[in-house]
Amino acid sequence: LDESAQSIDVELLPRAPVVTVMGHVDHGKTSLLDYIRRAKVAVGEAGGITQHIGAYRVKTEAGVATFLDTPGHEAFTAMRARGAQATDIVILVVAADDGVMPQTREAIHHAKAAGVPMVVAINKVDKPEANPERVKQELVAEEVVPEEYGGDVPFVPVSAKTGFGIDDLLENVLLQAEVLELKAAVDAPAKGVVIESSLDKGRGPVATILVQSGTLKRGDAILVGATYGRVRAMLDETGKNIPKAGPSVPVEIQGLSDVPAAGDEVQVVIDERKAREIALFRQGKFRDVKLARQQAAKLESMFDNIGEGLQTLELIVKTDVQGSQEALVQSLVKLSTDEIRVRVVHAAVGGISESDVNLAIASNAVIIGFNVRADQSAKKLAESNGIDIRYYNIIYDAVDDVKSAMSGMLAPEKREEVIGMVEIREVYSISRIGKVAGCMVTDGLVRRDSQVRLLRNHVVIWTGYIDSLKRFKDDAKEVKAGFDCGITLRGNNDIEVGDQLEIFEIKEIARTL
Ligand code: GDP
Repeated sequence: LDESAQSIDVELLPRAPVVTVMGHVDHGKTSLLDYIRRAKVAVGEAGGITQHIGAYRVKTEAGVATFLDTPGHEAFTAMRARGAQATDIVILVVAADDGVMPQTREAIHHAKAAGVPMVVAINKVDKPEANPERVKQELVAEEVVPEEYGGDVPFVPVSAKTGFGIDDLLENVLLQAEVLELKAAVDAPAKGVVIESSLDKGRGPVATILVQSGTLKRGDAILVGATYGRVRAMLDETGKNIPKAGPSVPVEIQGLSDVPAAGDEVQVVIDERKAREIALFRQGKFRDVKLARQQAAKLESMFDNIGEGLQTLELIVKTDVQGSQEALVQSLVKLSTDEIRVRVVHAAVGGISESDVNLAIASNAVIIGFNVRADQSAKKLAESNGIDIRYYNIIYDAVDDVKSAMSGMLAPEKREEVIGMVEIREVYSISRIGKVAGCMVTDGLVRRDSQVRLLRNHVVIWTGYIDSLKRFKDDAKEVKAGFDCGITLRGNNDIEVGDQLEIFEIKEIARTL
């Protein structure tokens, strides 16, 4: 988590898990968060103003967990798109009277794309029409498998209305957390992430910050994304003023020069002036990065994970109907080769939304729209982040296009080509220049920028570059077979009459699948 802290040998201590609640609309995310907050969070000081900050901690017998109070996968993935990974565990809320719905699936895909483990809360079990068993079956079909069926996802029946099962749910969250062995440095300058922010009329910019490692102290100079300041006041979730906050503790701070964005990175720096400098630099730099990404908004730019070994082409597939979704996903995944794996991070029926684009940013994915289009905000977000959205109405075209994109992902093959042979017929020593070979091109040609292998009795004794190539007194770009020329070799004077020069070039050859 915190490499800089580790490298200077700061002790890492266990920290509380950070939890996000996701699920379909109306399945009870807000009710669940509210119930837990009311039942488990100590109230503010009597008479004090209780701030409703964007995250809170709950204390149970099994330990402490931090809940992010912005439910839904949109916020979760918007943060990830900005490079912030704030969540350790996702609670997937599924209403027992409604079952798995489109946004349930979306939430599952977003959690899986982030590699964050889930705990399922089967909600509304107080209702007579609740059918938890059906929900289980439907989730298994989405590859969310309960422990009792040999999977690794805890399923807990709850009611956010009556409070039934909530303790059990929290216990399961903390059990999952134990498996993750979450740790962070405590005795170090704080690092964290902005959960939410706003401009308060009286207090100026305020931000809910989740401390992720180290300890944030009142008075610390901080750099927050492209803004900066000093922690003037720090409140906890009960509205109490606190002097410091350690890992996994959410706080609301005042003292920033500007309102940061959710997902911005928070970092304590030596002094405020330095923070200001970096913030200003970032304000300029961010623009450049944005511009650069816009310019690179071509298909090729999306395939920049070229490296050694297996590469993955991440895709998000949105279609008009279920049938075309299945057919398209199947044929796309089948394109996987030994070198490039095609992975569909998320596939669903419906138009392309902002949250699809954020998922694409977070996963470096290309979005495929089949008989569907992006809405206005999704379009804008995609444009400003260089996310490629491709539209099709024929499955074959989509598959063909992805196939050629995959070819573009393959690093070009480097191939050596011998383009000529040269015989050294005379050797002159010229002061200050060194040895010049009087040559005859016997085969092919020699170019000024060619590479050479020096052969003596058919043995390679040197490999390098030509330094100068001349016809009579003039520099030549190339000399063809049957002509004389003068050659000097870069950094090599060991040449003899009778030596041969093998002239070669390295060519990059595009590969196709
Ligand atoms: P969200 O859209 O996922 O945040 O869902 P809400 O928390 O707003 O809940 C949607 C509706 O379901 C509201 O009318 C809640 O009162 C109701 N609701 C939420 N949880 C429960 C529950 O456990 N039992 C019952 N009976 N109703 C619930």
